[in-house]
Amino acid sequence: MQDFSHLLSQKVDAIAQQWVEAVAQDQQIKSTENLSKTAIRDHVPHVLTALVTVLAHTQASDIKTIVEASLEHGLLRAEQGFDPTEVVREYHLLRTIIFTNLRAELLQGTVEEVLRSVSLINAVVDEAIAQCFQSYVKERLNELEHLQNQLILTVEELRRLVRTSQENLNMLAHELKTPLTSIIGYSELFIRQQRSPELKDTVTSVEHIERVLRSGRQLLHIINDALELSRYESGGMQLHLATTDVHSIINTVVETMQPLADKQQLKLLLNCENAPMQVLTDPLRLQQILTNLVSNAIRYTETGSVTIECHSFISNQWAITVRDTGIGIALEDQERIFEPFARAEHSKKLHLPDSTGLGLAIVARMVKLLQGEINLTSEVGVGSTFTVTLPLEVITEVEFIAKTFQ
Ligand code: ADP
Repeated sequence: MQDFSHLLSQKVDAIAQQWVEAVAQDQQIKSTENLSKTAIRDHVPHVLTALVTVLAHTQASDIKTIVEASLEHGLLRAEQGFDPTEVVREYHLLRTIIFTNLRAELLQGTVEEVLRSVSLINAVVDEAIAQCFQSYVKERLNELEHLQNQLILTVEELRRLVRTSQENLNMLAHELKTPLTSIIGYSELFIRQQRSPELKDTVTSVEHIERVLRSGRQLLHIINDALELSRYESGGMQLHLATTDVHSIINTVVETMQPLADKQQLKLLLNCENAPMQVLTDPLRLQQILTNLVSNAIRYTETGSVTIECHSFISNQWAITVRDTGIGIALEDQERIFEPFARAEHSKKLHLPDSTGLGLAIVARMVKLLQGEINLTSEVGVGSTFTVTLPLEVITEVEFIAKTFQ
């Protein structure tokens, strides 16, 4: 009987080479399109050597070598993204190539010898396919499990987002309810007074209309803030960068806020000689941030002063602080107040009519958009200091992403 294992062992390199070429060129195996020949070849000679080892034994029972080689091969094909039909096709090509290479020798054997050899080679190749699929399926299951875990996390995150939006919506509805109830109540009262001559009193009527107007303005304020916040949340806020004169922005904010401070007999102090002359930023957003912080400082301070201070750092950054001698913010509220509709517990008793609970949420998002940071230190009954640190030059979104991931 001819020793086909010996013949095969002499042709391992040639068969491996032909197999790699055939797999690379086969139209039905698309996953090889982006693979190098070396990547296709990986583990192929091992499978062939294992086939030879198994065929060399009179009994085909020692299949450990082929098990190992084929398991590795299956794992590799799963990693390379082959689909099952492609793996089957790959082994079909191997079988064809083996028989093509042994054809001349096989034809010289007796019919019985040929049949035995063919069935032995087939059995070994089938075993290789079975083992290959075992590891292939295992690897695919691992991938699926990984994907499933990722999906579970994504679903949880989406649920959290939906919950947050739902909570924000509930809070918005609650915020809108107070001024709306007041508008409806005072309008009804006004109409009733106008209809019955004995209740008609121009002074109280005007007061009621004034209340309606105040509530209407508050409603508009809340709606505008909520819309602004939602634009930030949806990423629809664009930066309009320009070379900006910091001093001029600060002076504009002080001029706008001075009447408010005067009304409450508060000193509005400015210490900004250290501010950089010019920065590259979005001037409108910068002004909004400052206006918001100074207006809060005034609103939450009953006596004393509000101070605006500037600092320049060597690290291409500058900072602006707004310090007040107001009611202060308890430690447990300090993080919360940057969330939409959150208010510090002890400020609630002030019953500020223009409080929307959205100002700082918007400020925090604007600071982030300007690639900066906002920090707060505060003590109840002593005062609060909000510090905004910003880059001297805000970079475009594309540059920012590139820098973050480099
Ligand atoms: P609001 O319109 O209620 O002022 P903000 O989002 O601007 O909304 O502020 C959220 C909460 O943070 C306020 O309700 C108040 O409790 C607290 N807060 C903000 N700024 C100050 C400050 N300078 N001093 C004390 N508390 C403040």
